[in-house]
Amino acid sequence: MSENRVVLITGASRGIGAATAILAAKRGWNVAINYLSNAAAADAVAASCRSEGVEAVVVRADVADEAAVVEMFKDVAKHFGRLDALVNNAGILGTQGTFDGFDGDRLRAVVNTNVLGAMYVAREALRLMIRAQTGVIVNVGSRASTLGSANEFVDYAATKGAIDSLTTGLSIEAGPHGIRVNCVRPGLIRTDIHASSGEAGRVDRLQHGVPMGRGGEADEVAAAIVWLMSEEASYVSGAMIEVSGGR
Ligand code: NAP
Repeated sequence: MSENRVVLITGASRGIGAATAILAAKRGWNVAINYLSNAAAADAVAASCRSEGVEAVVVRADVADEAAVVEMFKDVAKHFGRLDALVNNAGILGTQGTFDGFDGDRLRAVVNTNVLGAMYVAREALRLMIRAQTGVIVNVGSRASTLGSANEFVDYAATKGAIDSLTTGLSIEAGPHGIRVNCVRPGLIRTDIHASSGEAGRVDRLQHGVPMGRGGEADEVAAAIVWLMSEEASYVSGAMIEVSGGR
């Protein structure tokens, strides 16, 4: 069994997940790095983690595929023999538009990844953590859950509303088992996700509406996530932490 604490981070090949993996490694966590298609980026994150003196493994799985998620947890358990933390981070945006234009394929893709995916992953983590009677889950939600993302991606915002509810409910269910469940809700963060929505310059366009006057960096979100994973947050559960520059 691994001597260091172990965290599994979904969607850790890029963006917020990658920044979280590297910061967790700096803090001494062994890291399991999940990704979907970008193996080279996942391998590079693993190499950065190992350079901090910890163990890192790369596990490919589509979080929207229940069987693949179950296999991923078996791989992590086989490799490390324990799971102390989950960062439920993988998520997608569709292209920008109004809700009346979104077809079924698009809605299914967003809901399957952001909601069902997060549920499959949380459930598998909980099964291990309940057995161990300890653990911590950090869900990555979004400020969109309360802002609504009108004229851009209301479907995405609604999936992040589900993440808020999942956090609240699981924090209550899992608390008696010694498991903390929290949510970080980022605002406008400079990652590839905006280009995937069709507007690479989205943060630049919208940052004037942020009280702090700028977009955020993935490292700034990672800092909140890794704090929630730590013993410093030992009495924090069911919390929604905004990392959004006040927006
Ligand atoms: P990103 O840069 O686009 O990275 C997305 C990551 O998720 C990649 O590692 C990608 O893997 C992985 N991924 C996507 N679909 C997956 C699937 N089905 N199964 C497994 N992995 C999958 O995104 P990000 O901006 O870091 O966003 C991370 C989380 O923060 C998301 O939940 C997002 O909704 C949330 N968030 C972001 C912002 C923001 O402004 N950036 C704001 C609020 C909330 P590959 O590299 O293999 O494609």
